Amino acid sequence: MAETTGIHHVTAIGGDPTRNARFYVETLGLRLVKRTVNHDDTGTYHLYFGDGEGTPGTNITFFPWTDDGRQGEFGAGQTQYTAYAVPEGSLGYWADRLAAHGVDAERVEVLGQERLRFSDPDGIGLELVATDAERPGEPWADSPVPAEHQLLAFAGVTLALADPSVTGEVLEAIGYERVSGDTDAGITRYDTGADGLGTWVDLVGTDTPRGRMGVGTVHHVAFRLADEDEQRAMQDALDEVGMDATEIIDRTYFRAIYAREPGGVLFEFATMGPGFDADEPVESLGERLALPEWLEDEREEIEAALPAFEAPTPGPAANETSADD
Ligand code: ZN
Repeated sequence: MAETTGIHHVTAIGGDPTRNARFYVETLGLRLVKRTVNHDDTGTYHLYFGDGEGTPGTNITFFPWTDDGRQGEFGAGQTQYTAYAVPEGSLGYWADRLAAHGVDAERVEVLGQERLRFSDPDGIGLELVATDAERPGEPWADSPVPAEHQLLAFAGVTLALADPSVTGEVLEAIGYERVSGDTDAGITRYDTGADGLGTWVDLVGTDTPRGRMGVGTVHHVAFRLADEDEQRAMQDALDEVGMDATEIIDRTYFRAIYAREPGGVLFEFATMGPGFDADEPVESLGERLALPEWLEDEREEIEAALPAFEAPTPGPAANETSADD
């Protein structure tokens, strides 16, 4: 039986990498935990942002596409919102912080849950949800956000679909159960029922045509699996619902399989290890360009071909509150 416990990571297409990293590090307070290239397109960065150690379940990752004219279009078959959990009582802090950073956020209520909803500079839909659940990893000591308000991990994702029931059946095949819904709002919630965060997926019906992948859209949602044995079991489970999964692919920091669900969303199933310290120490995660062994020989050419990127250099939270002294 193959069952995921929840979200492993979310990968999206961004625009300018410097602006992308500044937003996730300086505004949201996440750590740049890995700076590498898209293994399938080495002219594009792959930037990972997460908690202090890049714990699975905390990482939002980006392929920053810098070519003009590759703007995506939101529509059916796409992730509409990616929600992070924040500690209970932190939504007020975040409303103030986002406003101070010039980010328009609105408070919305979904399935009885208050959420702070906003977009990143490229238009990726984000939400913050307060929870009393425990942080699965470690906060980041150098974050501009004080540890008591730092993002904990993903809470869940909202997928927009022409026919949510089709995707619902896939979710049930991979470890989710339908738990609640709001028929008026056209939302159905699925949850793995596992301990911890990142356990829910909300499905919403939409009349908009199929979206187009590009800057400002989510590329895929990855779900957690323990190891390759579970990935092999998941390949079988996906086969049973008519989905063709890829072979197991080595992504250096985890192993991955991919399969597109019939509603159009690309799903990935990723292992918990080996983790981001597989090729550099935790203390200096993300500080240099990390390349898999098979690309190391081409490092010079790859570095020369990458777009300009200025990594953010955040100070600890104390620096930002010094104005109150
Ligand atoms: Zn992925």
